Amino acid sequence: MFDAILIEKTEDGSRAVLATVGEDRLPPGDVTVRVAWSTLNYKDALAITGKAPVVRSFPMVPGIDFAGVVEQSSDPAYRPGDKVVLNGWGVGEAHWGGLAGKARVKGDWLVPLQPPFTLRQAMGIGTAGYTAMLCVMALERHGVTPDQGEILVTGAAGGVGSVAVAVLAKLGYQVVAMTGRPEETGYLTALGAREIIDRATYTQPGKPLARERWAGAVDVVGGHVLANVCAAMKYRGTVAACGLAGGMTLPTTVAPFILRGVTLAGVDSVMCPRPERLEAWRRLARDLDPATLEGLTTEVAMADVIPAAERLVAGQIRGRIIVPVG
Ligand code: NDP
Repeated sequence: MFDAILIEKTEDGSRAVLATVGEDRLPPGDVTVRVAWSTLNYKDALAITGKAPVVRSFPMVPGIDFAGVVEQSSDPAYRPGDKVVLNGWGVGEAHWGGLAGKARVKGDWLVPLQPPFTLRQAMGIGTAGYTAMLCVMALERHGVTPDQGEILVTGAAGGVGSVAVAVLAKLGYQVVAMTGRPEETGYLTALGAREIIDRATYTQPGKPLARERWAGAVDVVGGHVLANVCAAMKYRGTVAACGLAGGMTLPTTVAPFILRGVTLAGVDSVMCPRPERLEAWRRLARDLDPATLEGLTTEVAMADVIPAAERLVAGQIRGRIIVPVG
């Protein structure tokens, strides 16, 4: 028996509870993992609070990522005792996820723990941090280099944003952090942001084209914020877009794309091919300072996960939340 967050269907939606479940209830899969750490990502918070239809079958254990130790495996790639990490693949949405003492998954979904990270550090990064790295790699793929000028990171005090600021700053980019929380100025400066700007600058509808400012951008917000980011990109700049914390819509025009050659690079971590995942984890080991990572990580016990999910959806959580499970 082990502890698990369980999301159950109710007449008017869904309800999350902390429950004790037996191993016999785990879904089919070829590798059983004793979960050591899981995390709270935006998507987990949406699933737990029921604020968006993330969960595709009930009952569901949320947790789109976990780090742990293999207990049993019929996949020749893994043996008992191996340390592994999982991000995405619909885990925590359609397949029981990481916010439970054990998980059973397909071996193909796992990656070996990237040295020198500990299981705890790997989840300090989690899906948010791994996605931030995919965004940085997207900027690089489109030729954005530190000498070209300022890089904007939106939703900067959140999970994806914090890791993006830290990695870009370490790589020598001039990072400007956009936040709705001016009280996090000290935190964002410590991560490496050169300037902090108020989210309110970009939340209202803007012009199709604005003064050219950003050589690159990482956007987790969507909506008017992303539209205004696109409008203010420098000629041939690139925006890596991965999130919808401010909305699903994109009320923009073609002007930035056809007149300034701006690239809107979509980033998805869930189904991202394995070679790119492995590359992102290698790059995190090289380009994210472990002391900085510790500074953006907060531990929340299993018993406090449900209220923490409410705070996360309300935009009140700073950096990354990790959950000691095992
Ligand atoms: P967090 O909640 O940790 O961070 C989101 C941040 O966005 C908040 O901290 C806040 O930053 C800002 N924000 C929140 N609400 C609003 C709003 N209404 N308008 C404008 N800004 C807002 O979430 P994560 O970092 O875990 O995830 C960020 C986004 O990225 C989510 O939409 C998530 O679904 C998405 N995502 C996508 C992935 C993919 O594969 N494409 C993978 C991982 C995440 P501040 O207070 O600094 O303004």
